[in-house]
Amino acid sequence: MEDVINYLRKVRRGAMFVIEGPSGTGKGTVIKEILARDPHIKFSVSVTTRAPRSNEQNGVDYYFISDAEYDRLRDEDAFYEYVDSQYGNRYGTLRSEVDSFINVGEDVLFDLDWMGARQMKEKAGADVVTIYLLPPSIKEVRRRLEGRGTDSREVIEKRMDMVLEKISHWSEFDYVVVNAELEDTVEKIRRIISGERMKRVRQLTGLQTLVDELVKEGEALRRA
Ligand code: ADP
Ligand code: 5GP
Repeated sequence: MEDVINYLRKVRRGAMFVIEGPSGTGKGTVIKEILARDPHIKFSVSVTTRAPRSNEQNGVDYYFISDAEYDRLRDEDAFYEYVDSQYGNRYGTLRSEVDSFINVGEDVLFDLDWMGARQMKEKAGADVVTIYLLPPSIKEVRRRLEGRGTDSREVIEKRMDMVLEKISHWSEFDYVVVNAELEDTVEKIRRIISGERMKRVRQLTGLQTLVDELVKEGEALRRA
């Protein structure tokens, strides 16, 4: 029995989970919790031309690269999707962070803006599941940004100015979760991930093999 379950997991097709929401809502925190609780999901580390924050590590949070490197990667078609001048900085998802994982049944989690989510849906269709994280209030976004302590006053104001524009895209997403209480949010997103893993399209190869075996076994039993 255990073998059947392991087999189905191995031949499953991975899914791509895109999480978006206004800066300060808690995407990064929620993503870290999910990764810590689930060994079968990995984070797609994006490239960016912005400077690292004091708590960020190269290769973990982002690959921090120069404009020249960004141009080279874009010209080589190394990006699955990219946003080239949003927020004064440039961001991109590397193909190498995605394909090799999806094909072996590992899921990939992305922290992308709504333009990235849209591009991913256009390119990878059925593999992509999008989740929008809403804050419980606008005041709470400011409290969280200030509490995080990573941005200057000026950057916080810039992020606050963008909150409503960002929120206006909420209805383009497959799922919407309000990040009021962290533990509750993490568990809701884990349930979304487990439900998506059970979809027939993600288990086609394994299920067909299992059903063929079940039919063979059933027929043999009937003949016996
Ligand atoms: P984002 O990645 O969306 O910009 P972060 O994950 O950096 O946001 O979270 C911003 C701040 O809010 C962090 O200090 C984090 O600890 C805090 N935070 C995240 N989720 C919650 C929550 N549900 N309740 C209270 N504080 C939260
Ligand atoms: P930050 O600079 O605060 O880390 O991120 C700014 C915005 O860029 C966030 O909305 C984040 O989700 C988005 N972002 C980060 N990486 C990528 C990426 O590779 N592609 C796209 N489209 N957006 C990204």
